[in-house]
Amino acid sequence: MERLPEVSLGHKLLQHEQSTRVSKEDDTLHEKCAVFGVYAPKQVASPLVYLGLSALQHRGQEASGISSSNGGIITYKGEGLVSQAYQKSDIDKLHGGIAIGHNRYATFGGKEHMQPITSEKNLVSLAHNGTLPRTKVLEAFLHRNHLPTDGLNDSEMMQRAIEYFVEKGLSIEDAVREAYPLFTGAFSLVVMTKDKLVGMRDSFGIRPLSLGTLPGGGYALSSETIGLESIGATTLRDVKPGEMVVIDQDGLHEYQLAEGQHKLDIFEVVYFSRPESKLYGKSVNEMRREMGRQLAREREIEADIVIGVPNSAVPAAAGYAEESGIRYEPDALLKNSYVHRTFIDPAPGGREEGVRRKFSTIAASIAGKRVVMIDDSIVRGPTSKVLVDMLREAGAKEVHFVVSSPPVTYPDFYGIATPTQKELIASQKTVEEIRQYIDADSLQYLSYEGMIRATGLPEEMFCTSCFTGKYPIDIGENAQGIDFSL
Ligand code: 5GP
Ligand code: MG
Repeated sequence: MERLPEVSLGHKLLQHEQSTRVSKEDDTLHEKCAVFGVYAPKQVASPLVYLGLSALQHRGQEASGISSSNGGIITYKGEGLVSQAYQKSDIDKLHGGIAIGHNRYATFGGKEHMQPITSEKNLVSLAHNGTLPRTKVLEAFLHRNHLPTDGLNDSEMMQRAIEYFVEKGLSIEDAVREAYPLFTGAFSLVVMTKDKLVGMRDSFGIRPLSLGTLPGGGYALSSETIGLESIGATTLRDVKPGEMVVIDQDGLHEYQLAEGQHKLDIFEVVYFSRPESKLYGKSVNEMRREMGRQLAREREIEADIVIGVPNSAVPAAAGYAEESGIRYEPDALLKNSYVHRTFIDPAPGGREEGVRRKFSTIAASIAGKRVVMIDDSIVRGPTSKVLVDMLREAGAKEVHFVVSSPPVTYPDFYGIATPTQKELIASQKTVEEIRQYIDADSLQYLSYEGMIRATGLPEEMFCTSCFTGKYPIDIGENAQGIDFSL
């Protein structure tokens, strides 16, 4: 029998070689990604995964990959956007009825750690959204069983652990059940073998994952509901915290692997998810609009126009305008949609330059006006500083910077690439000092209570660590460098 290629060499890099070149320091700072999976035995699954990943492009732009069943498992991975990472001929080779995919987002350049993850054994392919802040137990397990961990990141170790049990002859259900307690952290996983599709979330459900049905029969899993919609699937429900769903020829099987508690990362509502998506069954767009209305209720500003920083703050700006009665000006600040997110631009000065390249102003809409500018968050600060500058250059009479979330004072360890605490401007400066730094006439943040109220859900249903320092999952040694008094 002909051996199927483990990884198709999109960029002439074997997965195994890549990972051994990576230093361990990279592990804590990385991705909040997209995962997608399709079980459609009567169709070819990979084109559906391709579409799903396109709809989830905002969750990761660095690399993309798809594994497909085909007697065994075939995987293709490439750098860049979904539209750049694959040729049609690559997708054509992935012709099984089961497929999973991943978009990668990372703070570091390079091809390291592209997903889905397989090994030479090629029994299990895995795509991960989230981060494990602690991997000690997992690493010890792999060492005990003589499996090398050098250069492997958290996601790769998870794949090795599950595959270890599959190789011993366990079903994928039982293999995951055995490996699951080794995972400490945030993970929404989509996993496949040659004949089954598996989805699961950590017991706090930090990152989202939704399940849907396909019109022609079969199921799909997606980081966000917009991904399901993009392939014409109907959203059934969210995968529950601590739950594993398995789809095979007999249909859907549900297992509660650990007691679950809802702690979805509130940053998914604030910034990360697409407005078309639903979180906890509620419209992200509507929750963001309500954050805008809430801002207007919390403080009154005398102004002529409201601007939302595209794209993520547009719903909040619309809500703010509605509540305050100040006119929303959609075409004062525009974003070039062909320049991609600058948040991770590593070069010094690069972020500022990036912001200038990404946005442009229309002076005729701004000159002489008192402007309320709304953005969803201030993280390090350069984005707001440059935007205020650009509005002043366009002739704004006053610039009031209004943020639709509270000050970000604590770093994230569950899969969002926020910087270290020192780099978070609100951990170092008071609101008045930040106002001076960004050179705005006034600066207003949404109150913490106001943010929670705007979601329409109880505070307990969210992980709010970036605003409160309350980390629901042990962050281990990471806690040492953190000032918890903010
Ligand atoms: P700053 O320049 O303050 O570091 O970044 C703030 C900007 O980054 C805001 O416009 C916000 O929309 C965006 N932002 C906030 N969090 C994230 C994130 O986790 N990833 C990316 N790509 N952008 C973010
Ligand atoms: Mg933004």
